[in-house]
Amino acid sequence: MRHNGRVPRTLAVANQKGGVAKTTTVATLGAALGELGQRVLLVDLDPQACLTFSVGIDPEDLDKSIHHVLLGGVKARDVLVEFDDAPDLVPATIELANAEVQLARESSPEQALRTALRPLRSSYDWIIVDCPPTLGLLTVNGLSAASDVLIPLQCETLAHRGVGQLLDTVHDVQQLTNPSLRVLGVLPTLYDGRTTHARAVLETIADTYSLDVLQPAIPKSIRFAEAPAIGETVLSTAPASPGAKAYRALAGALLH
Ligand code: ADP
Ligand code: MG
Repeated sequence: MRHNGRVPRTLAVANQKGGVAKTTTVATLGAALGELGQRVLLVDLDPQACLTFSVGIDPEDLDKSIHHVLLGGVKARDVLVEFDDAPDLVPATIELANAEVQLARESSPEQALRTALRPLRSSYDWIIVDCPPTLGLLTVNGLSAASDVLIPLQCETLAHRGVGQLLDTVHDVQQLTNPSLRVLGVLPTLYDGRTTHARAVLETIADTYSLDVLQPAIPKSIRFAEAPAIGETVLSTAPASPGAKAYRALAGALLH
């Protein structure tokens, strides 16, 4: 089911907490949508460039990246890394760490990504943006460019502590730059459903903030650690694993 001639769904994957599987979700969900015949573009908005690394690109080898697109007038198409059998990538490099200060001096600094991606939109069904673990201008750019925000959440005590702040930022973006931004929901990650604790935390968060909980939860599995080091996702390194199945099921659910 392609969005023929329609605008792509643009998902911002955001949570200012690190280590909640944002990058893993972008790479794996993107690959799973690709398996379903969708044309997918991944965008690395994190100066740590973990997404770029995890698809097998060494940022040190890149002359130009998202940083030059946001600030240097370079076209997104000119930094695009295209793959035959995996989603395309707009890569990041460490230079992006300075971008927030420089962007803040531009006019409409929160709209830079949206503007930069516009010429690419007709080439994709899905654009998935990996936000950094902050609520600064880069994440605001991701949210401003998005149709939907997906919030990966590790279901532990205190996991909810940043959720209110993140939703405040989403509301600011809805008011200021992107009224049609929707919160798709929270995605339970690193989930151990055997513990009643994880389920209880999840229910509390969903109730407190009136958020949808996306299904299925992504199970905690050691298999996730291996894949990025070789530029792959669990879909190829452990195709029959519960984690791979969960991301495939999530991709299927998002298409319907
Ligand atoms: P973030 O982008 O939010 O900082 P990452 O996607 O980089 O988070 O994930 C943080 C760490 O957790 C990585 O080492 C990753 O391999 C691991 N990880 C991600 N998802 C899972 C999972 N479902 N089970 C176990 N480990 C996971
Ligand atoms: Mg990350």
